Amino acid sequence: MLYFYPGPSKLYPQLREYLADAYDSGILSMNHRSTEFVNISKSVISLLKDKLDIPSDYTIFFVSSATESWEIIAQSLTKKGSMHIFNGAFGQKWGEYAHKIHQKATYLQFDLHENLLDKILDDGTQNSKESNNFDVVCLTQNETSNGTQIDNKTIKAITEKYNQCLIAVDVTSSMGGIELGWENADIWLASVQKCLGLPAGLGLLICSPKAIKQATNINENKYYNSLIFLHENMQKFQTNYTPNVLNIYLLKRVLEQIENIKIINKRIKNNAQNWYHFLQQYGFDLLVKNEELRSDTVIAVRGEEGFIRQIKDKAKEANIILGNGYGDWKNTTFRIANFPAITDEEIHFLKDFLIK
Ligand SMILES: *Cc1c(COP(=O)(O)O)cnc(C)c1O
Repeated sequence: MLYFYPGPSKLYPQLREYLADAYDSGILSMNHRSTEFVNISKSVISLLKDKLDIPSDYTIFFVSSATESWEIIAQSLTKKGSMHIFNGAFGQKWGEYAHKIHQKATYLQFDLHENLLDKILDDGTQNSKESNNFDVVCLTQNETSNGTQIDNKTIKAITEKYNQCLIAVDVTSSMGGIELGWENADIWLASVQKCLGLPAGLGLLICSPKAIKQATNINENKYYNSLIFLHENMQKFQTNYTPNVLNIYLLKRVLEQIENIKIINKRIKNNAQNWYHFLQQYGFDLLVKNEELRSDTVIAVRGEEGFIRQIKDKAKEANIILGNGYGDWKNTTFRIANFPAITDEEIHFLKDFLIK
């Protein structure tokens, strides 16, 4: 089977061996306060910083999912409220989860075909009364549901505009696939079952010194996953509860194996260009019309319900799993993951199938 679902997605084939190694090494029976675990945890943090070019003064936390990070941000980093800028289902869900926790979420929704940078620059609310109602601005950099992305330049403009706030960015379906401007935001969150080619069940939450300071000031300590507890433990490369040691081990092995993000970024962007070019050439209707807004890692193709159903069924017969549509586009799109674990050969196989 070839997996083009945008998460969980194709696993790196080396995982078969890494899984056996994990078993044989005995690490899975070790306590999460043991030196053995701490050493693995330490290497993962340093490999993440090294391979993904994450600034050395940012703190990386192990959590269980991207969804958990949404909640941690709402619980431990939000005092006045959060403002959610989104154009799709994941960004919206984040806003709804946050609102359930603190009842202080506001929303800035933009259109699928709208360039967020223009909207942000045109919007006259700079440092106005309105922005006194929130201290965290939440963005979904890669909106997996519709295949749009927000570029580094736009994130930077948002950071400059809301410079009193923390900027939190969901990069669940792009971290490990493309280069991100880490310095442009304070909080980044992702999980490993997308661009990192691992099984689900491990999330990464990355915080700037400014975000850690805010957590310390707020000092929220009501939950098992309150950020100050996570931070206390992470100073010793530990977690507050027994973490997904298997996935942390596998992440270490995958990080050792992959190239630096600059190299991966080139390949992914090049593949994305080729995908969009190919799809247009063969008459497929792309969901995202403005090429500047198209995602590099998740490609959405639009069509009539019948056509979409037929192509997904036929693909399955040919041992190819395409991504279903999501949210508003559930029945009228299919999605193709352009994740680093997918090989050129597999992409050619899918292209051949689509031509027929
Ligand atoms: C997949 C995804 C999530 C949810 O990830 P979990 O690890 O299942 O919590 C959140 N945001 C985006 C953008 C996603 O693509």
